[in-house]
Amino acid sequence: MKMAIISDIHGNLEALISIVEDSKAERVQSYICLGDIVGYGADPIKCLEIIASLSPKVVIMGNHDAAASGMESLRNFNEYAADAILWTIGRMSRAQMEYLSSLPYFYKEDGWVAYHANPCDPKGWGYVLSRRDVERCFGCFDTTLCFIGHSHIQFSAELLEDGTVRISQQEEICIKEGRRYLINPGSVGQPRDGDPRASYAIWDMDAGIISLKRVDYDIASASRKILMAGLPRLLAERLEIGF
Ligand code: ZN
Repeated sequence: MKMAIISDIHGNLEALISIVEDSKAERVQSYICLGDIVGYGADPIKCLEIIASLSPKVVIMGNHDAAASGMESLRNFNEYAADAILWTIGRMSRAQMEYLSSLPYFYKEDGWVAYHANPCDPKGWGYVLSRRDVERCFGCFDTTLCFIGHSHIQFSAELLEDGTVRISQQEEICIKEGRRYLINPGSVGQPRDGDPRASYAIWDMDAGIISLKRVDYDIASASRKILMAGLPRLLAERLEIGF
């Protein structure tokens, strides 16, 4: 079975549609969403509807989902992010707020675990950016695989038998017995690793292979809608450069 791992959609409908089409072409049957469906982008409601239509195995709570549903204050958000959250709150129904507020902070199953940001502190939203951050993560989960999002930077890290950690952006990761893996599929709706294409990952569970994917989408349309909604200009501009 093939499972798609998607994260940080951030109200970007064009990017989400491209990812869903690509995943259907790849014969994906199941979805995991690592959170942040809303925030930043101009189509939070349609993104919530599309995610629901995929009947995902699990949707994890992201920090923007938590703020938009009143679970957390906006204190830790910069002004652009806070503006977008307040705009989003004004558009959501009570049922959508309740849905977001009910999401779990992590999910664990046979051999894998999923968080939005960081397995060492699921509600702390700490970024995993440096080698030290990555190495620390391996001490905070005990499964073969751990999926995280939040940084909007696609990468994989492999813990070898001798305890060293190999970090890479390679497209294909073959899961080997005795090794453990930390995977960030990147962001669907607001990539920040210099490649503006939408990011996600496909886990072929039978073959034991995880593929990190990039997909083109209509960036101009997504960024135009952000401007037309009166959201901060920076949120539109950053989509063009993937940063
Ligand atoms: Zn995010």
